[in-house]
Amino acid sequence: MPKSKCESCGKRYGADETMAWINRTGSRDCPNCGSDDSLRVDYSEDEGCYIATAVYGSYDSSEVWILRKYRDNTLLKTFYGRIFVKFYYFISPTLVKLFGEKKWFKEVFKSKLDVFIDKLEKQI
Ligand SMILES: [Zn+2]
Repeated sequence: MPKSKCESCGKRYGADETMAWINRTGSRDCPNCGSDDSLRVDYSEDEGCYIATAVYGSYDSSEVWILRKYRDNTLLKTFYGRIFVKFYYFISPTLVKLFGEKKWFKEVFKSKLDVFIDKLEKQI
């Protein structure tokens, strides 16, 4: 999971906590010490669905859970699926780092993922 840390007081937060906070307040101000724009998310520690987590705001949301299940039960069982997952994990931290908090990024991926998740849900 990506962790985040306040540059000012050094307090560490979980990814979900941080995403929820950023989504709710629209700021990166530290909830602990109140410093402006001091929360820094470290995406490099995560092995999860970066894009989906950014889009849905939580690693534990039902949408991300379905995607993880699809990854483990379907993608990782095929050769091309494993290549795709490798590629996805290679490229997505950079994408999320650059665009993860941009509204258009979330909207573009959410519309695609929603359709995809809808299909997956019908298969389960
Ligand atoms: Zn702080």
